[in-house]
Amino acid sequence: MRVPFVAANWKMHMTVSGAVSYVASFNTYEPPTSRVETVLAPPFTAVHATSEAVAGTATRIAGQDLHWESQGAFTGEVSAQMLKEAGATHVIIGHSERRHIFGESDVEVNLKVQAAIAHRLTPIVCVGETLDEREADETMAVLNRQLEGGLKDLTGAQASDLIIAYEPVWAIGTGRVATPDEAQEAHAHIRSRLGELFGHNAQQQCRIIYGGSVKPPNVAELASLPDVDGALVGGAGLEPKSFAMIVAKSAEATV
Ligand code: PEP
Repeated sequence: MRVPFVAANWKMHMTVSGAVSYVASFNTYEPPTSRVETVLAPPFTAVHATSEAVAGTATRIAGQDLHWESQGAFTGEVSAQMLKEAGATHVIIGHSERRHIFGESDVEVNLKVQAAIAHRLTPIVCVGETLDEREADETMAVLNRQLEGGLKDLTGAQASDLIIAYEPVWAIGTGRVATPDEAQEAHAHIRSRLGELFGHNAQQQCRIIYGGSVKPPNVAELASLPDVDGALVGGAGLEPKSFAMIVAKSAEATV
């Protein structure tokens, strides 16, 4: 049984004081901690404050990106060690905004995944096709390329422990959510490809979460699909009550 995993990606939102108030409000909703893993991904400036604010609760903290080197002349970048010391346990890698706005490649995604694992940060690796790619019937080829490139040289055990977020680019921040059939088809494909690349345990154990316009009213249907193990949430994760509802509904849907 895979424990559902739900993460809120705050993107470039939330000051330190906003993050601390968010956590105070979120904690009043008491997430069903034994049945779901919950992660908040603040901007770098708020990682430490948010990790202090969630101390003593089951909520964990993710960075939104990292650089693969430990330190050096990389102005504006943050390393795995820095994230870890600031309180992160997870890190989002290869989000579509990183890939499409900042030109991040599968090779860079792979370097980041390797660096995260080396420093015991759990990677949340994002994959997903654009609308043009879906309409050209290239979805599965794009997913294969992103999985093979981004997860290159991982062992079966490493692949079992990471989180894959399937996020169709056309569904992110658009209000257009994948249909259950579209989501299940892509998740099943990713799971089967993981099996081919990393073996049976990775296929069974790796959690594959869906992202793209997840909201309280649509999360239960998505989270109850056989190969969907939770959600990566953008817009609805900025509001503590709606994110708490998404967490609770994800736990219920996967019982
Ligand atoms: C995201 O940014 O990963 C995301 C899924 O955003 P939204 O939920 O707003 O579509």
